[in-house]
Amino acid sequence: MLESLKNKHIIFGLKKIIADTCFSLGRIKIMHVCGTHEQAISRYGLRALLPENLEVISGPGCPVCCTPAFDIDNLVTLSLEKNVLITCFGDMLKVMGSRISLSQAKARGAKVKIVYSILDAIEFAREHSDIQVVHSAIGFETTAPTTAAALLNNCPTNFSILCSHRLIPPAMDALLCQKDNRIDGFLAPGHVSVIIGGKAYAPLTNKYNRPIVVSGFEPADIFYSIYLIAKQIKENQPKVEIEYRRAVEWQPQKKAVSMLKKTFDIENSFWRGLGEIANSGFVLKNKFKDFDALHKFNLKKQVQDSVSFKNCLCAEVLKGKIYPNQCPSFAKTCKPQHPLGPCMVSYEGSCAIFYTYRGNKD
Ligand code: SF4
Repeated sequence: MLESLKNKHIIFGLKKIIADTCFSLGRIKIMHVCGTHEQAISRYGLRALLPENLEVISGPGCPVCCTPAFDIDNLVTLSLEKNVLITCFGDMLKVMGSRISLSQAKARGAKVKIVYSILDAIEFAREHSDIQVVHSAIGFETTAPTTAAALLNNCPTNFSILCSHRLIPPAMDALLCQKDNRIDGFLAPGHVSVIIGGKAYAPLTNKYNRPIVVSGFEPADIFYSIYLIAKQIKENQPKVEIEYRRAVEWQPQKKAVSMLKKTFDIENSFWRGLGEIANSGFVLKNKFKDFDALHKFNLKKQVQDSVSFKNCLCAEVLKGKIYPNQCPSFAKTCKPQHPLGPCMVSYEGSCAIFYTYRGNKD
């Protein structure tokens, strides 16, 4: 109770400071790239406390939403045509490929098992040595080290991964690169930054002159980070700042980065809604090719952009061009029970979050 009261006082104090800082500025658009940030912003109705000339939009912060239909198609092919058991996180089940989702493949007889981590998948493969198990490895720099650690520790030979791990800074670069982007600053994700360090964003600030503040996930963290961005804009001194100092340092996390370097190379990769982004995907190094489902099962690699879905504006949502409730299908033909696009599927997807908290105005 005391904590929430303290938080409330901090938030209302910051509300006034942010309003004062933004008073003489034009329109300001801050983007975050993190489903957990959107959860906190929507859950606590923080947008309603911001001055009228400041908006916070959501970018590509949900790994499930960014995974292209092509990767889902490969998982479906493995499960239906190659008699492979797929392990994945629960929110991957309903995401559509170009034809069907894993959930629909399951209804047609595919073996799909939900796991909570890659370690569960490996354990399952060890206990069932007579079947091939492919794990759908998704997530940003936060989860990629877990995959690396698992692969560096003797996996069973009937286990492999379909690697969909991606990097956040190249996606921010791609968004800033768009001619019509109106992004004045970024709230950088705290958990990704625990691994890559604040330093990873410095090239972006230097290249585009935009403030980037690494933020924690409490409402007070987010509000204070928004204030830091507004202050940098007002003083015209864009830089990288770390608000989430209790977890994030300037330098990267050495051990995690070392495991990533031993396990993965970095290549261009496709993102749903954003297309191909240079140096934005982790791919397994050649020495791990026996654990790479692409190689093991002779699957195709993605070479062109994925499909988009009829009446679904996920691409616009992921680029921060619209809010989810500006999509004509939102809460009408598209709901978490019957999602049209990936952003309504995952717990971290912007459309699903907007739907959950659509009454939270204050
Ligand atoms: Fe796609 Fe549904 Fe979001 Fe619209 S509301 S962008 S249809 S996921």
